[in-house]
Amino acid sequence: MATIVADLRASFRTHRTQSLEFRKDQLRALQHGLEEFRDELAVAVKADLNRSGDVEVSTATHTIQATLNKLDEMTADRETSGLNEFDRSFVRLSPLGTVLIIGPWNYPINLVLEPLIGAIAAGNTCVLKPSEVSEHTSVVLTRMLTKCMDPTVVQVVNGGVDETTVLLKERFDHIFYTGNALVGRIIMEAASKHLTPVTLELGGKCPALITEHTDIAVAAQKTLNVGQVCLAVDYVLCPKHLQEDLIKNVIETWHELFGKDFRNSDSYARIISKRQFDRISKLLKAAEEQNKIVFGGKSEAGNLYVEPTIVTDVTEHDELMQSELFAPILPIITYETFDEALNIINGQEHALGLNLFSNNQVQIDRVLKETRSGAVNVNDVASCCANESLPFGGVGQSGMGRYHGKYSIETFSHSRSVMIRNQTHL
Ligand code: NAD
Repeated sequence: MATIVADLRASFRTHRTQSLEFRKDQLRALQHGLEEFRDELAVAVKADLNRSGDVEVSTATHTIQATLNKLDEMTADRETSGLNEFDRSFVRLSPLGTVLIIGPWNYPINLVLEPLIGAIAAGNTCVLKPSEVSEHTSVVLTRMLTKCMDPTVVQVVNGGVDETTVLLKERFDHIFYTGNALVGRIIMEAASKHLTPVTLELGGKCPALITEHTDIAVAAQKTLNVGQVCLAVDYVLCPKHLQEDLIKNVIETWHELFGKDFRNSDSYARIISKRQFDRISKLLKAAEEQNKIVFGGKSEAGNLYVEPTIVTDVTEHDELMQSELFAPILPIITYETFDEALNIINGQEHALGLNLFSNNQVQIDRVLKETRSGAVNVNDVASCCANESLPFGGVGQSGMGRYHGKYSIETFSHSRSVMIRNQTHL
């Protein structure tokens, strides 16, 4: 690992990555790689998660194109006013050097390639460490990157805790980590030994706050993304008298999407591992013992299947509210007043995304003013993530730092101040 990092550092010091043309060539090489390996990647994601990987490939391809289109503009020097009219001063985005990107299993293509695109576009050399949990995808990603990318710019290191622990002993100029907060702390501690800055893209409990003013059908449709997604709705806050309608609509929408038989639906994903399955089974058991499951609740260890499940009468003290679910379980907490709902949200750690369903400007303003979260989506879930003009990242326990669009380039650059004085006017 020491050799890999030393070689990438030596390559950075040749200054080749400073050239915008060189960076564009690398981005195009990645784009071609994705096209060439599209089918293999799709098969691998299916094997890991029983869902299509096509959207991830398309998203990464789109990000590359958008980055290529705007790279000149996004990396241009930003002129500022000098100390007097004869000075010139500007901010230049300088690449950081050799960076490390560590990815998770739940979007195993996107969550390593999106930061990689930013790192290359900003002119860095990179070590990528995909998740060992999504093993099929990691194998194909490694083959694709090894074949298509310049090895003096991108290197892939595979492995689990042991390998990552060794890798983290090396000195990097930035570490970009996506995953859970427990490991986030380990990354930050390792980074602190070298004073290396970190971006931590973590998770948490994202609420969906439904109000009187909600078109309940829209809310039902958008709250169904209850799965292994960092921005998925983790729990719903619902006025008591709307609960029955909400449950009915959510179930109807689930059936529309997956048919009557979720287990045999082609598009209904599986839990990634036995470890995660066991964790989720415990949560289901606790809810069952309390007689709170009103829909679903079945699971099958053999094929890591968990039925979409709705749990009602949930309180902040229930097991389901103690940590991020990352599972197809939808707990519903009912509330009487908007104040009460905001108090429940503020009783939790800051979420990555807060989803409000309301057309009432007073309520929208109150959420913006009285709560904290990485992002706010009004009348939708997670759409902030698809808008590349917005930064994506958490706050507090849901993470630090941001990326996407120009924010990716900024994350992997140093904003260097340059002041050029005119000697004759000093
Ligand atoms: P994971 O188990 O794949 O771990 C993430 C990475 O950390 C892997 O590459 C793994 O090898 C490495 N790792 C694990 N243990 C380590 C250790 N002890 N030392 C060093 N490295 C170690 O994925 P996960 O953490 O289960 O991912 C799910 C979490 O990620 C959820 O909390 C989710 O909300 C969060 N997430 C956040 C985002 C985001 O963009 N903010 C996106 C997806 C997932």
